[in-house]
Amino acid sequence: MAIKKQVKRENGTPQEEKGNILVICAHSDDQILGPGGAVAKYTREGYNVYTIICSYGEGSHPHMKLSYIAKIRVLEAKEADSIIGGKGVMFLALKDGAIGADFRKKKMMERFKRQILSYVPKKIFTHSGDDLHPDHRFVKEVVLDAYDSLARKNLLNAEVYTFDVSNIFNKKERNFPRLIVDITDTFRYKIKALHEFRSQINFFSYTITVNILYLAVYYRAFVNGLKYGFKAAEVFRRLR
Ligand SMILES: [Zn+2]
Repeated sequence: MAIKKQVKRENGTPQEEKGNILVICAHSDDQILGPGGAVAKYTREGYNVYTIICSYGEGSHPHMKLSYIAKIRVLEAKEADSIIGGKGVMFLALKDGAIGADFRKKKMMERFKRQILSYVPKKIFTHSGDDLHPDHRFVKEVVLDAYDSLARKNLLNAEVYTFDVSNIFNKKERNFPRLIVDITDTFRYKIKALHEFRSQINFFSYTITVNILYLAVYYRAFVNGLKYGFKAAEVFRRLR
């Protein structure tokens, strides 16, 4: 008979372990901007959530040394991850703004597939194909390619969902089934986690873009909430 593992929650109530979820994103704050509220909810329900981040997001600080930026970004991402109850973040250290070219140059596909497989995820969350940022769209493509290749060999069977970061409309993915997650109770963790990305918020030339993205987080949560009957909600599209 299988013995189900028990995990302890903050309040001490043991909960059944539900399995692993993997979030794969382009830059160090996308995992919060996109599915942060849902992740905080899943971790409270007993899922183990892991995050793979493709780039440190060094493009926002072109005058600073990569090693210095990387150190800050790793710390910020870890802090944010602990706020939403994640099990850890790992960075692929690909070039910000050219993730696709760097991924191909370094022939990352096989390594990437092994990494995904090592988490044995039940659900995978990644960027939307409708996102305006080319790095985001590339990550979505490469996640689907990797997943399809693993699924064809019966090595992995997971639900694959996409989240929005810098798009307002969902044109290409509008006909895929939707997953609506009520984030009324966890929206505050998403916002708290976003505040960990101080290096993004403080840097003047990046402020406008980041503020628009942060405003979009509020806008999306409440508009989706109104639409689906919650105070706040995140909406995902199931592609696989
Ligand atoms: Zn991004």
